[in-house]
This record gives sequence, C-alpha cells and structure tokens, in this order.
Amino acid sequence: MIADRLQRPLGSLRVSVTDRCNLRCRYCMPEQEYVWLPKQSILTFEEITRLVGIFTSLGVDKVRLTGGEPLLRHDLPTLTAMLARNPDVRDLALTTNGVLLAKHAASLKQAGLGRVTVSLDTLRPDRMRELARTDRHADVVEGIAAARGAGFPLKLNTVVIRGVNEDELVDLIEFARAHKAEVRFIEYMDVGGATGWSAEQVVSQREILDILAARYGTITPVTSGDVSAPAERFQLPDGATFGIVASTTAPFCRSCDRSRLTADGTWFLCLYAERGIDLREPVRAGATDRDLAELISSTWRQRTDRGAEQRLGLAERTPLYQVEGLRADPHREMHTRGG
Ligand code: SAM
Repeated sequence: MIADRLQRPLGSLRVSVTDRCNLRCRYCMPEQEYVWLPKQSILTFEEITRLVGIFTSLGVDKVRLTGGEPLLRHDLPTLTAMLARNPDVRDLALTTNGVLLAKHAASLKQAGLGRVTVSLDTLRPDRMRELARTDRHADVVEGIAAARGAGFPLKLNTVVIRGVNEDELVDLIEFARAHKAEVRFIEYMDVGGATGWSAEQVVSQREILDILAARYGTITPVTSGDVSAPAERFQLPDGATFGIVASTTAPFCRSCDRSRLTADGTWFLCLYAERGIDLREPVRAGATDRDLAELISSTWRQRTDRGAEQRLGLAERTPLYQVEGLRADPHREMHTRGG
C-alpha cells in the first residue's frame, strides 16, 4: 500500500473521459462558451486502460468514470469492458447526468460496469430547464428506470442550493425509494466552475437533517465500514437510508483517498489543487510501466493536500475562480476534473 504524508492510501481514482457536457448546470457550467481540451490531447481507451492498470498495481481498487458527461464519449461500453477486465478493479462505477442513460444502460451492464450514480437535482422539468438549461428531464427519469431495470445498484446525487431546490428533499427521498435508489444530498461546493457560488446558498448538512427530521422524525447515522466514502449515511425511522456529502461545511480531507485523472491525462491529487501532474506526456513519450508507477507513487507519497479543509479555514469565502481564471486554464473547471 502506498500512503501519502497524512497516511492516506491511494485508493480511488475518478477518470474523466471527456470535458464535454450536454447540460449547463448553473453551479458547474454557467457560461455560454468554454475553452475545451484539444482533441488530440484526449487519452485513447488504450492509454486510459494502461494508466488505470498502473494505478491499480499501486493499490487503487475503486474506479469511477465521470466527466463532463461520460456518456458523450463515443463507445463508453468498450472502455468499460476494457477496465472491467482488470481484476484489481473491485468497484467500477459511473457518474452520469442520465440524459443518455436509457440507451446505454444494458450495454454498460453487459460490459461489466458495477454501479451507477445519476445526478438529479429536481423532480420538476421546469426547474431543471432553469437550473441546467435542458428540456430532457423525462429522459433522465427514463435513464434511472433503465439503469434499475438493467440491475445496477443506483445512487442519485442532488446538489442542494438555497432558493433552488431545498424544498424538494422529501420528494427526492420518496422518488429514490420508489426507484430503489439511495439519494445523496451534496452541499453546494465552491469548486472551479461554480462562479456564482456564495456561502448563503449552501444548505448545510445540519439544515438538511433538520428539514428531513421535521418530516420523518428521528434520523440516525449509519456507520459504514468505508471510512474513505465521502457521504455520511443516515437512516429514517422507516428504515430508508440516504447520504449527505458535506464537503463544504464538514470536509473529509483526513480520509480522502481519491485522485482524479482528466480526459487529457492530467492527474489531480485534490479537487481544489492548483495544478495537476501531466501523465499524458510521459505515456506518449514512451515511458515504461515502471517509470509511470515510479512517477505516480513518488508523487502520491509527497501528497499533503487538504483543499476543502483549507477552504473552510478562510475568513471570507468566495468562488474559487472567476471566469477569466477558468478560461486561462480549463483544467481548473469541475467539468474537466470530473466530479
Ligand atoms: N455529468 C456527470 C453528472 O452530471 O453526474 C458527471 C460529472 S459532474 C461534474 C459530477 C458531479 O459533480 C455531479 O453530481 C454534480 O452535481 C457535481 N457538482 C458539480 N458542480 C458542483 C458544485 N459546485 N457543488 C457540488 N457538486 C457539484
């Protein structure tokens, strides 16, 4: 096992397969125009599979495909099958906005994908139109049903924003229950891309629990074996469970075993990190697996990042980047780093 300076293992890798997205969620991609990663810089399936293989040889056993919108990457089931062939990948998951999921759920299952998380911030099509600039709410709901039908364990991710959707928490719990899914409420984060972020819009874990307790009664924490999981899980009196990812008000940097590989092969050790490590260049320059393993392990051993905790320590908290900063380097965007 490789541990960083704070004794955190290299455990989980989020692989962004594209920086493109078919939604424009106002907390992630609010602009009209973006600077995209150059096409020739995007890793091929073979390059991704090779890099993931090196990461798993160093201890990674959880891999999540993300983006951008991962289902926009042509032929994602083929990449899924290539990764599923790696016996060290114990947990292969996908995070998607669900718009294209109905079409691909069965082939992803067949390819060996293990789990699916669908982002769903609202049950109201008109609200989604405003929040994500799309009319495809029905497609997302169909995608959720298709994923369930294909046999995937299912989670729903809801970013909770004051004045936008905090009145839908109960409805989302009930929707998740009806679809045999588990909802995870995510605190609004001041990540790259969230240029309209402000502290007042954050609905904290405490508030989320209060809203749900007022409707359901006493809520009890569920202790899970996975200390590195970002969501804290809770149980309602009727047995239904849900999670809260309190990255903004109660960050979990101390147990964070996650790192991120962008679609162009830049490796980020923290969602908030200023810079990433270029793995594409050595891959394309002919580095051996051993060279790459050495680069990755020596970098991880030096890791001290605690980005979310440092943000929490700021006296005054404003968005991480302004638009000009994001345009200057698209690697700062959440949709490039992969959520
Ligand atoms: N397109 C896919 C999706 O929608 O799930 C995958 C990429 S998206 C960047 C991954 C996750 O990041 C989504 O669940 C999204 O809601 C979350 N996210 C993006 N910006 C966020 C923010 N400012 N605060 C909290 N979560 C955010």
